[in-house]
Amino acid sequence: MGYMHYEITRNGETIQAGYGVETICEEDGCTEQIDRGLGCLCGETPGGDEHGCGGYFCGKHLFIGSGVGEGLCKRCDDRYEAEHGEPEDFEGDAMTVTFAHNGG
Ligand SMILES: [Zn+2]
Ligand SMILES: [Zn+2]
Repeated sequence: MGYMHYEITRNGETIQAGYGVETICEEDGCTEQIDRGLGCLCGETPGGDEHGCGGYFCGKHLFIGSGVGEGLCKRCDDRYEAEHGEPEDFEGDAMTVTFAHNGG
């Protein structure tokens, strides 16, 4: 029950959150009706954490499985990939390393 409706602080502002709170996807121009449950949250912690901005997005604008384990919006997903590399890099191909020759 505790997750249905609660208050969080985001960017210094208190907002209502929880899956009982209806809202609109926060992506610019998107009018998809969603709720402020954890399933629509960018990041893992309401209000934002080290990976997510704490925004709420619809299924089209929340990317799941980029290696973080939770959904991220486009901006945070891009930032995560920039910091940690593409998820496909898992295999690693040590045999095809090329060395750049500087100067010379
Ligand atoms: Zn985000
Ligand atoms: Zn959306």
